[in-house]
Amino acid sequence: MAALCRGRHRWKKTNCLYVPTRNLTGKYDYDLVVIGGGSGGLACSKEAAQFGQKVAVLDYVDPTVKGKIKIWGLGGTCVNVGCIPKKLIHQAALFGTALKDAKKYGWQISEPVCHDWATMMEGVQNHVRSLNWGHRVQLQDKKVKYLNFKGSLVDEHTVKGLTKAGKEIPGAVEHGITSDDMFWLKKSPGKTLVVGASYVALECAGFLTGIGLDTTVMVRSIALRGFDQQMAGLVTDYMETYGTKFAWKCVPKRVDKLSSGALQVTWTDTQTGGEHQDTYDSVLWAVGRAPETKALGLDKLGVKLNQETGKIVLATDESTSVPNIYALGDIGEGRPELTPTAIKAGKLLARRLAGQSAELMNYDNVPTTVFTPLEYGCVGLSEEEAEKRHGKDNIEVYHAFYKPLEFTVAERDASQCYIKVVCKRFGDQTILGLHFTGPNAGEVMQGFAMGFQCGATYSHLSQTVGIHPTCAEEVVKVNITKHSGLDATVTGC
Ligand code: NAP
Repeated sequence: MAALCRGRHRWKKTNCLYVPTRNLTGKYDYDLVVIGGGSGGLACSKEAAQFGQKVAVLDYVDPTVKGKIKIWGLGGTCVNVGCIPKKLIHQAALFGTALKDAKKYGWQISEPVCHDWATMMEGVQNHVRSLNWGHRVQLQDKKVKYLNFKGSLVDEHTVKGLTKAGKEIPGAVEHGITSDDMFWLKKSPGKTLVVGASYVALECAGFLTGIGLDTTVMVRSIALRGFDQQMAGLVTDYMETYGTKFAWKCVPKRVDKLSSGALQVTWTDTQTGGEHQDTYDSVLWAVGRAPETKALGLDKLGVKLNQETGKIVLATDESTSVPNIYALGDIGEGRPELTPTAIKAGKLLARRLAGQSAELMNYDNVPTTVFTPLEYGCVGLSEEEAEKRHGKDNIEVYHAFYKPLEFTVAERDASQCYIKVVCKRFGDQTILGLHFTGPNAGEVMQGFAMGFQCGATYSHLSQTVGIHPTCAEEVVKVNITKHSGLDATVTGC
């Protein structure tokens, strides 16, 4: 039985967890109860309902510590404080660059051109709310019961729902914000220090720079850990020329609020040991998301967690160590924290639970794009990982530095527009990884990801006819190998 009770709670939103409560005997209220109305949870619940299952979704969000945001609607991180607002603000920033380009293309734009944060946020938030509403309507249409409760597990057949309710850096929580806050700020964050150097940090720093704000990224180790490091270097090099400042190998020590309202940040340069200070209007912590597995009551049920990360240990069919309990999305150990994988895994799980299919989610070959000022899209292995798995002498890297046609008239620097195709060196030269920096990287990579999924080889790539004039055609034209040592700059058409 799915039991619901009321009380006070603390809980975050991003994760999804499922308790199928079989009601064939009429013993339980639902066949499937989904905790977490994010991408994966919604996809799973709708799919299950389509197969005639009785489904409920529990979704609830606490305000952030900083309390800058109210309760969000359905859709989880992606819709409310992730992919959707991020891509829209990225678009706002790209317009800034396009405005500069436009003058070179003959547009007469009177100066000064400035950006209004409030107008942008109103548009972004209206769109987010329309998506929240759309998700609600879809649940209703599919007869999925939506409960704005914070769910936890009582046993493997019972879910409880509650209604509202490392080393610390001094000043971090009181004076800093997270990306959850950033996407709902009514006022421009002003001069901003972004702490962290992965997707969220670089994307936020990129769009803040793009809309004209003084922005610094504080990197404690490397940028874009886990990604091809040559590509990561191109992304950050471009950002530096774009105006983003970087404090490399630095860690924040404390944040103090001055009487002026400014935030004084003290940090240590880990290479020199030196201490530095500067003042900012905002400090954005983009240091990763933590799973809220504690609040789910998993320990009482014996659901196995990775003690270090707090994430749930899962089998390939998304099952946990306790029967009837499944998990997917960000909360699963080793799973990509990406919307499309959560959606696909959610649908497949619903089909398996309904006995409609045995297909498992394939977590390999997942393409992704980092929406930094120069976008970076990739699928498959980084060059480093390919070397590790196959040996340096057994891989061939085809590469090209190219100039997007649109950059020419605009006189934009294209030094970081680069393509790298990592292949097996011998035999059929199967492609192991494909990497692209340039305009519309996500759009470019999506198509190539299908070829990759089908086991594309270098010869398939070079047999493919390009679409002229595009950036994507440069991918099918790559022919210079790193081994050859030849100049990889593309010249002419
Ligand atoms: P993340 O990938 O976990 O990276 C956390 C970053 O913060 C790393 O650069 C890390 O540095 C740094 N960091 C951690 N603790 C720190 C500390 N105490 N002081 C300074 N730096 C610290 O987190 P994320 O960027 O929030 O991304 C989370 C997930 O969201 C990603 O895995 C991604 O799948 C997803 N995402 C996807 C997209 C997209 O598809 N475009 C966009 C955004 C997010 P170290 O490397 O030194 O540990």
